[in-house]
Amino acid sequence: MNTIPFSVLHRAEHLERIRNSIFDLVIIGGGITGAGIALEAASRGLEVCLIEKNDFASGTSNKSTKLIHGGLRYLKQFEIGLVHESGTERAILNHLAPHLVVPEKMLLPLIEGGSYGKTLTSLGLMVYDFLADVNEDDKRKMLDKHKTLKKEPLLDEQFLLGGGYYTEYRTDDARLTLEILKQAASFGATIINYCEMKSFNYTDSKIENIECIDHNTNERITITATNYVSATGPWVDIIRKKDVSLNHKRLHLTKGVHIVFPFEKLPIKQSIYFDVPDGRMVFAIPRGKTTYVGTTDTNYSGDLDRVVTTISDVNYLLIAINGMFPSVKLTVDDVESNWAGLRPLIHEDGKDPSELSRKDEIFVSDSGLISIAGGKLTGYRKMAHRVVETVLKTIPKEKKEFIKESFTDTIPLTTPALKSAEEVNHYIEALENQLTDFGITDTFYAAYLCSTFGRQTDLILDKAKSITAGTSNERLVKAELWYGVYYEMTNTLADFFVRRTSRLYFDINSIYKHLDVVLKDMSQYFNWDAEKIKTEKDHMEQLLYDATHYYETEF
Ligand SMILES: Cc1cc2nc3c(=O)[nH]c(=O)nc-3n(C[C@H](O)[C@H](O)[C@H](O)COP(=O)(O)OP(=O)(O)OC[C@H]3O[C@@H](n4cnc5c(N)ncnc54)[C@H](O)[C@@H]3O)c2cc1C
Repeated sequence: MNTIPFSVLHRAEHLERIRNSIFDLVIIGGGITGAGIALEAASRGLEVCLIEKNDFASGTSNKSTKLIHGGLRYLKQFEIGLVHESGTERAILNHLAPHLVVPEKMLLPLIEGGSYGKTLTSLGLMVYDFLADVNEDDKRKMLDKHKTLKKEPLLDEQFLLGGGYYTEYRTDDARLTLEILKQAASFGATIINYCEMKSFNYTDSKIENIECIDHNTNERITITATNYVSATGPWVDIIRKKDVSLNHKRLHLTKGVHIVFPFEKLPIKQSIYFDVPDGRMVFAIPRGKTTYVGTTDTNYSGDLDRVVTTISDVNYLLIAINGMFPSVKLTVDDVESNWAGLRPLIHEDGKDPSELSRKDEIFVSDSGLISIAGGKLTGYRKMAHRVVETVLKTIPKEKKEFIKESFTDTIPLTTPALKSAEEVNHYIEALENQLTDFGITDTFYAAYLCSTFGRQTDLILDKAKSITAGTSNERLVKAELWYGVYYEMTNTLADFFVRRTSRLYFDINSIYKHLDVVLKDMSQYFNWDAEKIKTEKDHMEQLLYDATHYYETEF
């Protein structure tokens, strides 16, 4: 299929194609799992449609710890296959998007009375290096107390024994999802957000088509395909219920919370992965102007569409962080932002949340619905491959002949691409100079632009230079918005401030500063009337409130 620009300004064309086509595959859900399947399927030659009821990556795929990691702690549960798969995927993703999947040195402090001893940690990290096929530079090192303290002076000297030092990769989950979707669209996939699947229609007990609602116009749309995949994460069982195919295999949702501090409140020199008294592990990760800490892992039965942080969540993380870094003495007033997300895990009788496997599983119903649950951000490519192989079992032989072998391990995630860490560093340096000339004094902006947009920043900077009104910062934010509207299907204030730019979590103050400018431009791009402007403002205010407040109970 020819490509339609990945912009909401072309929504009518997308909808027309959706109405008038019979696709090989419809994917319900635009998180990382759906995005990965869309790219795998479209690049191999299938005609693909993906619909997302809200914004892309508005579910769990924007609420993770934002690591592409091998899952060191899964070694404890002897999940050898999972550690191997996640571990080896890291290097591939780093190669495909070196600005977005970036090596991050991780320090695992060994503490008197902690659950990790020196010998076991050394052995564990060695097995991890082996399973994850880690290159020489990234291999684990065991550090004595002195060297550990040098890496992280905020650790408690009194109880510190030493440390394990190894490599993980950091990412931005929502940006990763978006870039994959954009690549899928470049292979002809038809992809839209704000289109919700409501019900199935059947012929001879097999799915004939799905009924959807376009939330932008409130119009009903029927979508027809030969295969249907539900990649709806925490909503997988709701879709299986609609298909009357929910059986003994069920989701087990657990909630994970992260809290964000201004960097100066928790000025760690590097990422730390530490154990807390209940035996769980918590990450503390510096990012730009902030340091974030997470996660919790508790059973969840509240509202799937509004997952919030409770007082007990924030207290748990504060106790953990103050225990590990006693000098910082952080309180709830120091927390700048937070997010809470749901792990769509597969239920296993008698297991606690953190004991549940993170492995993915595919369920195929008698009606033909293929659902995928479980899994991790890190494994999206492999999960996508398994789903598409399942789809291909039902594709007629004549069509199958034209289907290519999977080659997503060679498809760069952005166009144009940065190809190596050296290119990324040079690009950031060049951006720093350009931004200084442009009048931007914020030293984080170059790194932010590069890690958010990669080389696509060139278009944004050119646009910013062409805007004449406003301060340098306003012109740049307006240009980021322009890029989001024209190239990334940005529909709403939240799309821009939360998923396209992560400002809600990592630069919340910039939202208060730029809300009016962004709202004004968006109203003009989309011709919003007073009622729509109010709805948008109200929704953004609710998100800002939830990111800065703690509730007694779940919704
Ligand atoms: C706290 C936490 C930390 C984590 N940390 C990491 C990590 O560091 N590294 C890692 O690899 N993994 C991590 N994970 C796991 C990872 O984030 C998830 O496995 C992954 O994001 C799930 O993606 P998904 O696409 O399956 O689900 P989602 O991202 O939730 O996507 C499902 C989508 O389906 C849409 N949808 C639902 N119903 C419909 C419908 N009727 N019509 C249309 N669309 C619909 C939803 O709106 C949603 O956007 C973490 C998870 C949590 C909760």
